[in-house]
Amino acid sequence: MRKLKICHLYPEVLNLYGDRGNIRCLQKRLEWRGISCEVKKVGLGDKDPLTDYDLFFIGGGQDFEQEVLLEDLRSGKGASIKAAADDGKTFLCICGGYQMMGQYYETHEGVKCEFIGAADFYTQGGDTRMIGNYAFQLGKESGGSTVVGFENHSGRTYLGSGVQPLGTVMKGYGNNGEDQTEGVRFHNVFGTYSHGPVLPKNPEFSDWLLETALVRRYGRADLEPLEDAFERAAHDTMLERVCKGTAGREE
Ligand code: GLN
Repeated sequence: MRKLKICHLYPEVLNLYGDRGNIRCLQKRLEWRGISCEVKKVGLGDKDPLTDYDLFFIGGGQDFEQEVLLEDLRSGKGASIKAAADDGKTFLCICGGYQMMGQYYETHEGVKCEFIGAADFYTQGGDTRMIGNYAFQLGKESGGSTVVGFENHSGRTYLGSGVQPLGTVMKGYGNNGEDQTEGVRFHNVFGTYSHGPVLPKNPEFSDWLLETALVRRYGRADLEPLEDAFERAAHDTMLERVCKGTAGREE
């Protein structure tokens, strides 16, 4: 039986808006296909070389929670996370967990969090928050499907010239409310501002992540289609509401 090992990084610190629901979604979509899934939590102070996993998940957090991570990242875990990303392991990083993969996050109060620098991008905290249901289109290198989610961040993320966004904003703020980019996409890292959890109502994106991890481990994915009528109905309903402007946003 095929198996994927998932590492849930900093579950006790980065878990806003039930982001851990993304792991349950990945786990069930594997189990429904007869593929086993082992999930291990790696938190503050845990010593783990992070070399034995196929997929990493990092959720979102408030500014002070992101500051709490700094010492642990400097203790060596930051370098291990970067090495796993460089090694082509699949990552799903949400909001604060996404910001952590960049060079730094400077809060609006001026606290500069020196982060992992796994790719060339940075985040600047703002004096207003970007909040609401939103939608974006994934790039073709991520399957090209539409994603509906919920964003709540003060951080404005700016991508370096050679760094691809995860997608293009259809409605909402995305990375910074200025350049229509949303998230980041490098190696097999998928970073997004999308809370929710994002995956249950975005089955195509969920399976793209699983296929990415399966191909790296087994050379092929061969994922059987699932009966996703309920998930697609949730997705399509929210997409229609977001695009019509009736989904609840703070403009
Ligand atoms: N604290 C960061 C910000 O406000 C990330 C927030 C989050 O993870 N939702 O931008």
